[in-house]
Amino acid sequence: MNLIILNKAKAIIRERHREAEERYAYELSKIDKNPLYIKADRDIRTNTLAISRALCNDQDTAELECVNINLISDFNKIKVELGAPESCYFCTKCNDKGSLDNGTNCSCLTQVYYQLSRELSGVIELPHFTFADNQVATLNCVQKDNLTKLYTSMNKFTANFPNTAYNNILLIGQVGVGKSCLLSAVANDIIMRGFSVQYLSAFALSNLFLKYHTSDAKTRHQYLDSLLTADLLIIDDLGTEPILKNITLEYLDCVLDERVRKHTMISTNLSVADLNARYKERIVSRLTNNKTNVIQLNGTDLRIKK
Ligand SMILES: [Zn+2]
Repeated sequence: MNLIILNKAKAIIRERHREAEERYAYELSKIDKNPLYIKADRDIRTNTLAISRALCNDQDTAELECVNINLISDFNKIKVELGAPESCYFCTKCNDKGSLDNGTNCSCLTQVYYQLSRELSGVIELPHFTFADNQVATLNCVQKDNLTKLYTSMNKFTANFPNTAYNNILLIGQVGVGKSCLLSAVANDIIMRGFSVQYLSAFALSNLFLKYHTSDAKTRHQYLDSLLTADLLIIDDLGTEPILKNITLEYLDCVLDERVRKHTMISTNLSVADLNARYKERIVSRLTNNKTNVIQLNGTDLRIKK
């Protein structure tokens, strides 16, 4: 898990805990003038004092502690009878602490972590799609067999991540053949496995390069940091971005060079020949080298076919 994202998730859970306590205190303020409430509260205080005194005098407190448990139980029942909720916590497994008694992370923290990871990764710009949503098997189209093999292969890629057979994936295909769904399924699965993903369109990438190029040298690193450090970088629709002179190709080359030992996934509508015509030979060779799985998605528009 990424420590920065995990700490952000923990801060959200802490805030949740604070809000739940505040909500509960407000609910109690509606009933804390009731005589039954006042008596039960006073009984607990009196017994707690008795325990403290017994401890100071080195006396056995077992019986008093037993009484205390019963008094607290009675008090909780009275509170509910008077109209207070049993709990205001969002997660009753951990009472919004984020961790369980055995020290492991509670599922509520993991859930917030994954949600944050998705938001920070940019993957939320894609339609939400996971391998579980894949219904290729039910399709009635010519590319069904190839798509089935492709999903199996991509599932293997994410299951083995980062120790995959190849580092990069180049996904070539026209609009509507299912590239976005596949990108989304891969990205979501990698995030669920606790790795960092950075998704952006080639258009956004080109804008980012421009910002980097025109910013102050001291602060500009912020624009490319996440691209360089993400475990998986996804560049969608390569070929639709404007080629800015001395910027787009040069920085794209640098990013791919910096990420040579990391994983990068690129989708494009362009054929390899079109890529060759548009990009430097060095860039195209990086996109199609033996560390890359080049996938050609052919066929009719799945969105129409489904
Ligand atoms: Zn929890």
